[in-house]
Amino acid sequence: MDIAIPSPTADIEDLATAPDSVSDDALHPIFAKMPSSVSFNKLRKRLLRQVRQAIDDFGMLKGQTRWLIGISGGKDSYSLLALLMDLQWRGLLPVELVACNLDQGQPNFPKHVLPEYLSSIGVKHRIEYRDTYSIVKEKVPAGGTYCALCSRLRRGNLYRIAREEGCDALVLGHHREDILETFFMNFFHGGRLATMPAKLLNDEGDLMVLRPLAYAAEDDLAKFASAMEFPIIPCDLCGSQDGLERNAMKAMLSDIERRMPGRKDTMLRALGHVNPSHLLDPKLFDFQSLFAEPKA
Ligand code: SF4
Repeated sequence: MDIAIPSPTADIEDLATAPDSVSDDALHPIFAKMPSSVSFNKLRKRLLRQVRQAIDDFGMLKGQTRWLIGISGGKDSYSLLALLMDLQWRGLLPVELVACNLDQGQPNFPKHVLPEYLSSIGVKHRIEYRDTYSIVKEKVPAGGTYCALCSRLRRGNLYRIAREEGCDALVLGHHREDILETFFMNFFHGGRLATMPAKLLNDEGDLMVLRPLAYAAEDDLAKFASAMEFPIIPCDLCGSQDGLERNAMKAMLSDIERRMPGRKDTMLRALGHVNPSHLLDPKLFDFQSLFAEPKA
């Protein structure tokens, strides 16, 4: 697929409202075979709008020229790549994109799927093989879950590749539910208020970690990925299961949303409206200096 990319026209200070250089209804070639239904178009536009808003709200483009997009083969990272390519095609994303998959040596990993797909959509990409699976199996005691160590090793390798590729940021496909689940895991089990931020500087201080899907709902991404017929590779080929805690948070949030629709969006909004003087952290708010002015 030969994809022409118009030159960027966006004012990077105001991406959420910058005009497209192509009509909003025009379709990137990646969408050529997709459903022409009103509902799919609405979904595509909603996701694009949310990605633009997150990029804008968190100043993700500041100082950025080249992004490494982590592609796991799951629905979220495929969707992220398609949406970013669309924004780039519309002249709204003035950065180069390099897609990267880290083949971690899981048994039965279908090695041909991602290179074939990434070549077919004409995106620059790098496929890297690192057998972190063997390290995880060796280090995690029997009965333990692999995912935490596996993710840490994956992240370290992706940082290295981002540096080797001359990228300023590692861009990941975490979405609204990932952010809420992490928040509640920290809240219930970690004793702190923290989650995956939409924009983070790595510990070494040389790379940003960006999450442009921060406002996107997992359900929307699942519907988008299914309509786009992405060649999904499951992340449980290794036979491991994600931690029970995350699954419990997922179930709790789904239950709340089912009983009170819209609560997930409300919770996400709350994470963006923090009032330190109405919490209990003296490091965030100087309660010691708080005095009432005696009335004259
Ligand atoms: S399911 Fe397997 S491959 Fe996926 S994060 Fe967990 S350990 Fe890694």
